[in-house]
Amino acid sequence: MSPSLRFSFAIVAALVLLSGCAVAFGMPAALALAATFFLVAVVINAIDYEVSNAQADFAAVTQPSHGSSEAIRGLQAALLDGVPDPALIVNAQSHIVAANKAARTMFGASVGAPVTAAIRAPGLLGALESARRDGVQSISDFEMSVPVERSLTVVATPIDKSTVDQSVTETLVVLRDNTAEEQLAKMRADFVANASHELRTPLASLKGFIETLQVAAKEDPDAREQFLNIMLDQANRMTRLIDDLLSLSRVELREHVPPKDKVDLAEVAARVTQAMQPIAESANRKLGLSESHSPVIVTGDADELGQVLQNLIQNAIRYGKPGGQIDVSVSQKSGWAALSVRDDGIGIAPEHLPRLTERFYRVSAKDSRERGGTGLGLAIVKHIVNRHGGAIDIESVIAKGSTFTVTIPMKTP
Ligand code: ADP
Repeated sequence: MSPSLRFSFAIVAALVLLSGCAVAFGMPAALALAATFFLVAVVINAIDYEVSNAQADFAAVTQPSHGSSEAIRGLQAALLDGVPDPALIVNAQSHIVAANKAARTMFGASVGAPVTAAIRAPGLLGALESARRDGVQSISDFEMSVPVERSLTVVATPIDKSTVDQSVTETLVVLRDNTAEEQLAKMRADFVANASHELRTPLASLKGFIETLQVAAKEDPDAREQFLNIMLDQANRMTRLIDDLLSLSRVELREHVPPKDKVDLAEVAARVTQAMQPIAESANRKLGLSESHSPVIVTGDADELGQVLQNLIQNAIRYGKPGGQIDVSVSQKSGWAALSVRDDGIGIAPEHLPRLTERFYRVSAKDSRERGGTGLGLAIVKHIVNRHGGAIDIESVIAKGSTFTVTIPMKTP
């Protein structure tokens, strides 16, 4: 019954009561009774009015009109923007109805477009369909090759219908990009495999010679002498590799701690060139240092900068030519100090240049091993240079030679 109808009933009932009581008890008592009845009716009416108002408010929230549906959409968009991974809401026709910033930037997802226009992957559609069909969250992994190769996980969650318009079935799609994580895991696995392989080869050779010495070459002094020399070479190779692995892990650990000392690069160059002189001579290489007239001061770590130069000279000796020339120079220009090592050796083909500083990357692993290389020298150089806020530049011409230049800012990095 509506409040106004109930109000009219109360007045009629009060008048009937008034006339009945006037006949039975006299006029004053009848008036008091009718007034009390009327008041009770007014109070009930007021309570009823508040209750029906509250019911209307509740209905507006649970069964939204067009305006409140937009409010929910706005809330959804705000919540999606708080998700760091790409997140979308798609409708029953697989069109995007909301997309957060990560989804817009990474996939160019735009509201109104089919989800397949942004993400062309059967794996995504499969997850969407099974979430819709089964009404429960569906997770699956898939690969994308366009525009770049990516490895992704999709989590498709059906949205509870009672929270949005009753007639719509929507699905929340959250994507996780696993590419960087997988690449890192692969790099780690490759590194362990490479390091083990590099150690296993000389170890197998040592074992073979020990067995031969124990049996066949036991009574042959010439063979024994020859085998022992080879064994010493193999042991030295293992030592070099372990030294380089330890150096690499040390410089990697320190890579994010900027150096603090003032170092004279000219002094470092003089010290290291002098120390490498005997090695260059025994390999029949001429090693020279261009005189630098002033100290070249950088903020750096003297030992690490010495190791950079030592590795570059070592390579110039290794890949230089017999009787060839190796020139070391230090210079400064426009706030940058430069350390350069030039050789006239075998040179490097351009396609190898971008990868030379990767661990264990070698133009020819056999050639590097024969010349006493470990494949880690330039990786160590790269980490040290990174720590100093510098850069490595390589210029090379096959059969003419190479120039490795390390530049370091003269101000504190
Ligand atoms: P390695 O111990 O094998 O020398 P590096 O990391 O120092 O390892 O160098 C990686 C590769 O770069 C080498 O195997 C070699 O192929 C190439 N390389 C480095 N320096 C030179 C150079 N001065 N001349 C020619 N090739 C070089």
